[in-house]
Amino acid sequence: MVKSVIIRGPGGPEEMEFVHVDLPEPGSGEVRIRHEAIGLNYIDIYHRTGLYPLDYPQSLGMEAAGIIEAVGDGVPHLAVGDRAAYASMPPGAYSQARIMPASQVCPLPDGIAFETAAAAMLKGLTVEYLFHRTTPLREGDMVLFHAAAGGVGLIACQWARSEGIQLIGTAGGERKCTQAVNRGAIGCIDYQIDDFVSVVMKLTDNKGVDAVMDGVGATTFEKSLDCLRPLGMMISFGNASGPVPPVNLGLLAQKGSLKITRPTLFTHIADHSTCQKMAERLFQKILSKDVTICIEQRFELDEIADAHRALEARKTTGSTVLIP
Ligand code: NDP
Repeated sequence: MVKSVIIRGPGGPEEMEFVHVDLPEPGSGEVRIRHEAIGLNYIDIYHRTGLYPLDYPQSLGMEAAGIIEAVGDGVPHLAVGDRAAYASMPPGAYSQARIMPASQVCPLPDGIAFETAAAAMLKGLTVEYLFHRTTPLREGDMVLFHAAAGGVGLIACQWARSEGIQLIGTAGGERKCTQAVNRGAIGCIDYQIDDFVSVVMKLTDNKGVDAVMDGVGATTFEKSLDCLRPLGMMISFGNASGPVPPVNLGLLAQKGSLKITRPTLFTHIADHSTCQKMAERLFQKILSKDVTICIEQRFELDEIADAHRALEARKTTGSTVLIP
């Protein structure tokens, strides 16, 4: 029997419930993985609240690291006893162990701790596709990154620095801005106080940035368009402040033939070999110390409701791990 978290319908943190379940042997293309550490992500909030609808009852959690306990047929890249990590659908990482489709489970190098991997997979693979697979970015290019002191954000600051990309961050409050700058942002704007459009224009000599990476959504989307240079790329990849309202495409013409995309990690990792290559690049960034995964909060899995409340209340910075 393993302890696992489920919800029976969308709702608040109090809707999350502990159940004990028996795990079967893995089927073809599956593994059973015993979790040593679990990652907390904003998508878990969207799943819990129903912003991203799921079938109920539903397990939660999208990211974890641990040891492979059993392997089904047709899984050549993993063996019993291997250290492994994943960031993938279906939800269910909030558990002591689980059955998982093996395709997106990645062998974990010995030099990377379980907690680091659990804190890095979903957020780090996201940064990998934002910087390498979404729009061409070259050394010297300038990027505006919202919520730069968050889980994805602190990885993005360091990744940008390691690629010679100039990242301007935004964050809520001085302490968060300092964290983003310490991790590699060339500047960070407290968007609770300052108008980020005018500061970005000042920092770019009124040219605007090459790309905006926006995981905040409702409160930042439209003003972000005003931070872009002509032909710049708006990457809207999340909605921590609420979903982005329908977009008038005419705005993109008026503001300088802008481009826009709304990507998700799960399209990028759908292909097994692409997923493994993305993970290798992430692991390399960690092993080379270009990127340090900042685990700023730890909770027991039993404290999952408190962990959700902290993330939603903007009280966290960097990554949060749950210990099963
Ligand atoms: P974060 O750790 O970045 O937490 C969210 C942050 O958003 C907060 O800390 C806060 O930072 C900021 N924020 C601004 N407004 C609000 C608000 N009204 N309520 C809550 N937070 C707000 O989360 P993650 O690193 O897990 O994820 C960051 C974003 O990236 C999320 O939107 C997530 O869904 C998205 N994402 C998208 C992926 C994709 O492939 N499309 C994959 C992974 C993540 P501050 O106080 O500094 O404003």
